[in-house]
Amino acid sequence: MDQVTDTDLSDRNAASRFERLYRFHGGLVLPGHHEISTSLPIKDAGVPPLLVIPLLQHIGETAEYLVKEGDYVHKGQMIAAPRGNVSAPVHASSSGTVIKLEERPFPHPSGFSFPSVVIETDGRDEWAEHAHTLPDYRQLSRVRLLDHIRAAGIVGLGGAGFPTQVKLSKGPGDRIDLLVINGVECEPYISCDNMLLQERSREVLEGVRILQHILQPRDCVIAIEADMQAAEAALRAAVTGMADTGIKVVCVPERYPSGGERQLIKVLTGREVPSQSFPSDIGIICQNVGTTAAVYRAVVENRPLVSRIVTVTGAGVKQPRNLEILIGTPFSYAVEACGGYSDDIDRLLMGGPMMGFAVSTDEIPVIKATNCILAVTREEMPPPVAALPCIRCGKCTEVCPADLLPQQLYWYAHSGNLDAAQDYSLFDCIECGCCAYVCPSHIPLVQYYRHAKTEIWNAEKQKKASDRARERHLSRQARLEHIKRERAERLARKKRAVSGKDGAREAAKKAAIQAALERVRKKKESEGISQKNVDNLSAEQAEKIREVDRRRQHKHSPGEH
Ligand code: SF4
Ligand code: SF4
Repeated sequence: MDQVTDTDLSDRNAASRFERLYRFHGGLVLPGHHEISTSLPIKDAGVPPLLVIPLLQHIGETAEYLVKEGDYVHKGQMIAAPRGNVSAPVHASSSGTVIKLEERPFPHPSGFSFPSVVIETDGRDEWAEHAHTLPDYRQLSRVRLLDHIRAAGIVGLGGAGFPTQVKLSKGPGDRIDLLVINGVECEPYISCDNMLLQERSREVLEGVRILQHILQPRDCVIAIEADMQAAEAALRAAVTGMADTGIKVVCVPERYPSGGERQLIKVLTGREVPSQSFPSDIGIICQNVGTTAAVYRAVVENRPLVSRIVTVTGAGVKQPRNLEILIGTPFSYAVEACGGYSDDIDRLLMGGPMMGFAVSTDEIPVIKATNCILAVTREEMPPPVAALPCIRCGKCTEVCPADLLPQQLYWYAHSGNLDAAQDYSLFDCIECGCCAYVCPSHIPLVQYYRHAKTEIWNAEKQKKASDRARERHLSRQARLEHIKRERAERLARKKRAVSGKDGAREAAKKAAIQAALERVRKKKESEGISQKNVDNLSAEQAEKIREVDRRRQHKHSPGEH
């Protein structure tokens, strides 16, 4: 394990502030361009006329509509409910009328549309009346706080969008040793976390206290990059002003992607998070600083996640800066709030130049995972050139911070051999773009990895859907069989009952006849009834009379022989 030495660091002054830090494999030192968007304070972007709020802004299941067209909604009102454990609710970002529930273009590399709630705002920006305000969080149980964080729709604001309460669900039963608050904004151009720390460090710290209360970690570190001096000063001042926080501020070297969860854990602790595992499996939980401030707002101010800070930057925008912007605001509105596009705008990206992706329209909405809207000129970021064949130079392997073999992954992703790509740990790829950045053949490697991952997810989704359909079919079959059996049994019972009744009725009838005959016979006997005019009969006549008598008797007593 390599301990960082002064010569490893791009900032020698910063080195003196480190206690003991480590290096992750690979990575790049890149020009930051952060200064472009940090000269102006955060500005409130205001309320756009239309908000388009997608139901899927997080990792996990899509939320379910709770409103219908024509409904009036207040700011902060839940308009879509989470479905399943790994999901998040969605709230109206401002007051107005729901005018459409439909699929709308969504900021995603696939360019797909997603179900969304379209709200025509009324400009009043009126908050929903919340049923209750939470008491002091220190008096609340961990479970209650996690429920509240879930209901507030908080997801990781660093870009991943993982539901926060799911991430916090581990501990204190499963001990968490270290809570890392990630303010290492290592990707070029993006400065939303930097500005948040500069202007609202107190909010972040209050959020950290809440997370400490939930997780009870042994240690807590807020990590920032060594070049974030203003943020560091604000943070240290805020920590000093708070008694007994146990919070340590650590500056890490500027090396992309040191803000990656696994890379940051390696830098701070020297420990590797094993493949296919979560940091919590080794007793560590990481939370982004923006997410931490959102937790503060949810728990202390009882405000769900309806806005976030977004860096609107690049030479393609006239006045780059950070905006506090409502979720669902179109990119075009955000750019207008920054003075509009410059004449030589070439492309628009969501995210930074390394992990971001180009979007084809600026009518897509800001979502919870939007940390940056990057408008670039051709000069600033030349358009991609045609890819050449891989020359197996191995440069991509040298820079891969996840210790993967990017050219092998490319080979398998390109040829559609998705099983082999998974064997080569495709899902450990953090899509940092380092490999593509150094590739002399200009192969858009990350696009291949994203495509392969999407294919695998889709196949899994389809498999799950067909498994569910098969289960539904089988349980329907079983239900129908059960109904059929029950019906047959009912019928049989009825038949048995009917035939039992008929038998009894017949037997009663026979008994009645028998009794009547018996009565007649007895009466005859008692009255001495005998045959008349039977004297002097011939033998033949006597036999005929006996024969008639026998038939008569037999007729009245059919059961007797
Ligand atoms: S850097 Fe590009 S050309 Fe070199 S091995 Fe990797 S994929 Fe191939
Ligand atoms: S994009 Fe993936 S494969 Fe490429 S360097 Fe980053 S982690 Fe490695």
